[in-house]
Amino acid sequence: PPRLLQFKLVLLGESAVGKSSLVLRFVKDQFDDYRESTIGAAFLTQTVSLDESTTVKFEIWDTAGQERYKSLAPMYYRNANCAVVVYDITQPSSLEKAKAWIRELQRQADPNIIIALAGNKADLASRRAVPSEEAQAYASEENLLFLETSAKDNANVSELFTMIARKLPLE
Ligand code: GDP
Ligand code: MG
Repeated sequence: PPRLLQFKLVLLGESAVGKSSLVLRFVKDQFDDYRESTIGAAFLTQTVSLDESTTVKFEIWDTAGQERYKSLAPMYYRNANCAVVVYDITQPSSLEKAKAWIRELQRQADPNIIIALAGNKADLASRRAVPSEEAQAYASEENLLFLETSAKDNANVSELFTMIARKLPLE
């Protein structure tokens, strides 16, 4: 049987960018147009099979983006192995918020944390307000993984988590 390696993953980002929707798509392959917002944080797990000898199990903490829960975030990222910081490609302010989360992670989280930036709602192409190239350039500068995703259309969701799994220390 393959070995099972477990890692803690935290989702961060402004409210309504689609953090819970990305997790719901990844874990249950579902999407809701009317998701209730997360209170505090939700915990889910999902495995990714990398090859016949290795399965990665993600223990996922989906945090609430609201300002009033901000003080709880360090509890979730403190011993996280990886973080997905999400913005909405139709909302430039959500990329600014993502950058603030990334700075906080770079200062306060484990120095080996793997950080992925996800530009979600890529299906809303006609309302795009953040060029891919701009986010990609920022991600490259900061050494982050980067993908644009759509929880709604199931675009790049499993790819995002697999890309992270491949960067983890698989000893
Ligand atoms: P969270 O607050 O970051 O957890 O965001 P939610 O997952 O609750 O999603 C907020 C809203 O955006 C909901 O109405 C979702 O249906 C919608 N949403 C989430 N992901 C996508 C996506 O990829 N495309 C589109 N069009 N809507 C999305
Ligand atoms: Mg949520």
